Amino acid sequence: MDLRLQGVGHSYDDVTVLKDITLDVPRGHIVCIVGPSGCGKSTLLRFIGGLEQPTEGKVLQIGTPPADSLNPLTYVFQDFALLPWRSVAGNISLVLEDHGIRDQAAKEIIDDVLARTNLTGFEKALPKQLSGGMKQRVAIARALAVRPAVMLMDEPLSALDSQTRELLMDDLVGLWTRSPFTAVYVTHNLAEAVRLGHSIVVLSRRPGKIREIVTLDKPLQDRQMGDADLEEKQKHLWSLLREEARTADTELLDG
Ligand code: ADP
Ligand code: MG
Repeated sequence: MDLRLQGVGHSYDDVTVLKDITLDVPRGHIVCIVGPSGCGKSTLLRFIGGLEQPTEGKVLQIGTPPADSLNPLTYVFQDFALLPWRSVAGNISLVLEDHGIRDQAAKEIIDDVLARTNLTGFEKALPKQLSGGMKQRVAIARALAVRPAVMLMDEPLSALDSQTRELLMDDLVGLWTRSPFTAVYVTHNLAEAVRLGHSIVVLSRRPGKIREIVTLDKPLQDRQMGDADLEEKQKHLWSLLREEARTADTELLDG
């Protein structure tokens, strides 16, 4: 299943948040969305997931999700959103129970997604016993458990320290390489965008409009921190965002 956004725009009362967003999310691609704070990135993700309807344009699903997909559009949030009183396995089984999957069938899925996120052996751990990076891996495992057609990731690494973020980027590349998933990946971190994105959509400050879509052809598994070509792309992204971010920041200070 692919996604197509056609002229998506939105206004809350008299504030226009997004304008004329047209883009494709092809199957198997990670499409990163970057833009200054408040430009409408999370709002756009809510429209894609169907949690809210835009006042203009539409989000189309092209083709059908895989038959075994329990939840075609699944979110991964910055704050992990784990239930503290449930174990790692318990947090994942919860979303399966919602779909009537229990016992051995659930165990097989849980074992599989924990193996894919390198969490085998941590089934019984409680979230408070885990580092931030592990918590986010649990949240990613939980998202994978419902076999989404598209993962909607809202700043998934932004709550983590920079070293953990590096490790998680490696993990995501490994996960994608072993079995490519489709994602819309919102971040304000340009290093993440150039490591993980097949394409990077640069939004202007509010109302968020597409300034440019940057494509990266280098395979994910060949990208390393510090690669000259990636740094070049990152510089280009920053040149697009710098003034936008500055103006957005001044606007916030002005109230
Ligand atoms: P980002 O994720 O890019 O930082 P958001 O999508 O969260 O930005 O928000 C974009 C703008 O829309 C912000 O100015 C925010 O205050 C406004 N906004 C978001 N949700 C609502 C809402 N439910 N009602 C009114 N304004 C909102
Ligand atoms: Mg946001």
